[in-house]
Amino acid sequence: MFNTLSDRLTSVLQNLRGKGRLTEADIDATAREIRVALLEADVALPVVRTFIAKVKERAKGAEVSQALNPAQQVVKIVNEELVGILGGETRRLNLAKTPPTVIMLAGLQGAGKTTLAGKLAKWLKGQGHTPMLVACDLQRPNAVTQLQVVGQRAGVPVFAPEPGNGVGDPVDVARKGIEEAKRAQHDVVLVDTAGRLGVDEEMMRQAVDIRAAVQPDEVLFVVDAMIGQDAVNTATAFADGVGFTGVVLTKLDGDARGGAALSVREVTGQPILFASNGEKLEDFDVFHPDRMASRILGMGDMLTLIEQAEQAFDADQAEAAAVKMGSGQLTLEDFLEQMLALRKMGPIANLLGMLPGAGQMKDQLAGLDEKHLDRVQAIIRGMTPAERDDPKMINASRRLRIANGSGVRVSDVNDLVNRFFEARKMMSQMAGRFGL
Ligand code: GDP
Repeated sequence: MFNTLSDRLTSVLQNLRGKGRLTEADIDATAREIRVALLEADVALPVVRTFIAKVKERAKGAEVSQALNPAQQVVKIVNEELVGILGGETRRLNLAKTPPTVIMLAGLQGAGKTTLAGKLAKWLKGQGHTPMLVACDLQRPNAVTQLQVVGQRAGVPVFAPEPGNGVGDPVDVARKGIEEAKRAQHDVVLVDTAGRLGVDEEMMRQAVDIRAAVQPDEVLFVVDAMIGQDAVNTATAFADGVGFTGVVLTKLDGDARGGAALSVREVTGQPILFASNGEKLEDFDVFHPDRMASRILGMGDMLTLIEQAEQAFDADQAEAAAVKMGSGQLTLEDFLEQMLALRKMGPIANLLGMLPGAGQMKDQLAGLDEKHLDRVQAIIRGMTPAERDDPKMINASRRLRIANGSGVRVSDVNDLVNRFFEARKMMSQMAGRFGL
């Protein structure tokens, strides 16, 4: 996610480290490099211009005589300005005072609207809502079936026109969908609309008609972060054509240059509410400008990680494991439990990507495949409780038995046990370093 931009900015800012004082020339040079990095990432030119002007002005201004060293000052300023272009505060969904809240999704075909409908429905359900999906994309073949599949996966009902009645009128379906939601007492209705491959008058008219018919509390413009500069043009066209109250960025998982997506807020004035980063229903999160900025600057996204961890982990169990880790007493049983909890949070490479400095570990992360983790799980499950508790007792004959039992080679078992000992040693050293 924004890896290239992140690498560039991190290295530009790292070059400032160790400088006692920044001259005006230093600031100009840094600003120039940041400008190139942003432009190469496809951030729209006017956005880059304003950004650089602000950073330069602040870096040269009075702020630089304060307690932080100059490099820290610049990092702070760049971070704050980045948070600014991303929208500042986290913008929550506007919920209607009298349910149902109606959320309309708009965007080009392929932007990820239907997928997003499922993600959002699942997320809302997790927040205690009772969402319903309404299939108004009657244009794209299979769009209705796709929404039904997604709805089923999310465990959320889908209102769709009866099959076999011709194409049908999306505005009518939208209206009936809302009536049905009221009747069945769903508190949020998500209306999926038709997109086109490009901006098209008829599509806009249809979206305008649906908007007028259902009077949504939110119109979310869904945009694929990988479409480069076109994201800005499309956003402008939708802002003028239908109007929207918020943006959802999708496909942030590709190392898209993605910068165009960073321009959407600034160009349209509408906040980014959510971000999608994968094809699975869980690959979705509330968009936090501050966390995204620190992730782009390579500071990691500890907050998101902590939040996800809190949801996935049993706090007591995690704390007990942390204490054991610190004292070098972690067992393979603890390791297995933690791994299972961690895997509940999503693909492991995504999680590690949130850690500080992870941008530089890209290659190692790419090699982390889930199958390997499955194998590790199988091996530990092939061990007796006593072996999991005290891995030192796992001698050659036990290794052979475990390998046979879990369908792997002895060398895989050896590998796991050795790595476990190494990791345990490293964890207790790290715990010492962080004063845990
Ligand atoms: P729609 O035409 O706007 O409804 O778009 P779809 O929801 O059908 O999505 C188009 C394609 O993009 C599908 O193949 C999705 O699986 C994929 N997709 C959607 N969101 C994401 C995402 O966040 N990351 C990735 N990698 N693919 C996505």
